[in-house]
Amino acid sequence: MLKKIGFIGLGNMGGPMAANLLKAGYEVAGFDLDPNALAAHDKAGGVATSDLKDVVEGAFAVVTMLPAGPHVRQVYMEEGGILDDVPPGTLLIDCSTIDVASARVVANAAAERGHFMVDAPVSGGVAGAQGGKLTFMVGGPEEAFNRAKPLLEVMGQTIVHAGGPGTGQAAKICNNMLLGISMIGVCEAFNLAESLGLEAQSLFDIASKSSGQCWSLTSYCPVPGPVETSPANNEYRPGFAGAMMLKDLKLAQLAAEDNGAKTPMGAKAEALYQAFCDAGGATEDFSAMVRWLKSV
Ligand code: NAD
Repeated sequence: MLKKIGFIGLGNMGGPMAANLLKAGYEVAGFDLDPNALAAHDKAGGVATSDLKDVVEGAFAVVTMLPAGPHVRQVYMEEGGILDDVPPGTLLIDCSTIDVASARVVANAAAERGHFMVDAPVSGGVAGAQGGKLTFMVGGPEEAFNRAKPLLEVMGQTIVHAGGPGTGQAAKICNNMLLGISMIGVCEAFNLAESLGLEAQSLFDIASKSSGQCWSLTSYCPVPGPVETSPANNEYRPGFAGAMMLKDLKLAQLAAEDNGAKTPMGAKAEALYQAFCDAGGATEDFSAMVRWLKSV
C-alpha cells in the first residue's frame, strides 16, 4: 500500500479525519498553523511537520481541510504553495467548504501540472468526522474521483460523484441553501401555530405526514419536544452553528451572483441568518432561528 499522506488543516474536522486515516494504517504527515492542532496530531500517532514542503514530500496524496477559499488558494497556489512541490500524478483532495470559483481555479492549476484533484466538501459535522461517517460531495474528473474514493471511504460513509471540477462545492451550497430556507419556513410555521393556539406537537404530527414534510421538520425539529435528538432539546447547542449556515448561504449568494442565477429566497435567508448571527446566534445551533424570529 502506498503509505504517506500529507494532511493540511488539522482543526475540528481535519484532526479527526486525519486520525481515521492513521487508524487505517496510513502514515499521515500533518501541517497546521496552530501548534495545538499539531500537538493533537502528534498525540494521535501522526507526524507533525512545521512546513508545507515536509508535509507533501514523498506523499502519494494530499488532503486539505481549511477554513475558506483564500486559505485554499494560498496553500495550493501562492508563494510556497504545494502545487509546484508535488510530482505530477499526485492525488489532491480538498475537503474544505469554499467558493466554487476558487475550487475551479485551483483544480485547473492542478490539472495543468498533471495532478489528480477533486473538491470534496463534507456534511456530517464533527461527529461525522470522528466516526468516519461523513458524506463527501465530490467534483472532479472520473479518474481523480476513482483514485480519491478509497481514502474518502476511510473518512466517510457516503461518497457521491457530483460531476466535474467545482461541482462538489456546488452540490454542498445548493443543499445548504435549501436547508437554510426550509429551516426558516419550519420556524415560521411553529411560531404562527403558537400564536393561533395550535400545539407544537399537533403541528408536527400533522405536517410530518402532509405536504409540509421536510428534513428541517422531521429530523431536526426547531422546537423542543417532537424530535428527541434535535438541538432544540439541548438548549440549542450546535449541531450546526448559525455562523456555519451563514457562511454557506453567503457562498450560495456569491455563486448565484457570479453565474446569473436568481435566488431571492436564498438572499432573504442570508439576510435573516446575518441578523440572527449579529444578535448572538453565530454560536447557537442554526435552528435557534425559531426563538430569534419572535423578536423581530
Ligand atoms: P477549524 O477552524 O477548526 O480548522 C481549520 C484549521 O485550518 C485550523 O486548525 C487552522 O489553524 C488551519 N489553517 C488555517 N490556515 C492554514 C494554513 N494556511 N495552513 C495550514 N493550516 C491552516 O475549521 P473546521 O470546523 O475544521 O472546518 C474546516 C472546513 O470544513 C471549513 O471549510 C468548514 O466550512 C467545513 N465544514 C465544517 C463543518 C463543522 O461542523 N465544523 C461541517 C462541514 C464542513
